[in-house]
Amino acid sequence: MNKIFYTFTTNSDGNLAYHVADLKENVDKNREKLALKYDFDIENLFYMNQVHGNNVEIITRESPRLIDNCDGIITNEKNLTLMVMVADCIPTLFFDKNKGVIAAVHAGRNSTFQKIVEITAKKMINEFNCEVKDIEVILGPSIQKCCYEVNEELAQIVKKSFGEEFVNGRFIDLQGINKMLLEKLGILNITISNTCTKCSGEEYYSYRVYKKCGRFSALITIK
Ligand SMILES: [Zn+2]
Repeated sequence: MNKIFYTFTTNSDGNLAYHVADLKENVDKNREKLALKYDFDIENLFYMNQVHGNNVEIITRESPRLIDNCDGIITNEKNLTLMVMVADCIPTLFFDKNKGVIAAVHAGRNSTFQKIVEITAKKMINEFNCEVKDIEVILGPSIQKCCYEVNEELAQIVKKSFGEEFVNGRFIDLQGINKMLLEKLGILNITISNTCTKCSGEEYYSYRVYKKCGRFSALITIK
């Protein structure tokens, strides 16, 4: 069995994204602190230029550390740390301890609608022979149906595309949609954080609370 390390950072770990209004040296420092705290090699930290799409890439030690135009990364190599950065979007981690395969996925609204979790799971199954019974998925702190209000048109689209159960007035349930997509594939080992980034307080950056906020992260490594 492979040993998998994963964690979700909080605001006390600081902003981890270069693309928001923050100094590069602050982000560098926060990432270095994180590497020390969790004992991973910062030279092998892989992250994405996340674009709210559904492109999922398989990466190796030879890949660039910043993967362009991408919202999901998968690897089966040990000691590579995959990172997804969020503030309200769903930081989603996949792992198969048996085959030793991990993934980090940025499941925001668009990527959820474009079924990025299904694409990731299928890649794990088709490219690495993962079995659905072995795939575990964790949806981290993110904006939940209590706070995720959209316009009427979008609410109607969600109703039509995914089902009435994922819409309450103009509030939508992205976690529920992702869970349903995974369950359709036969993946049942799904853990969903019930922490809402918008209304739970100060622990996690929330774009809907403060547009100029930083990004927290989900990290995953095969040890
Ligand atoms: Zn909420």
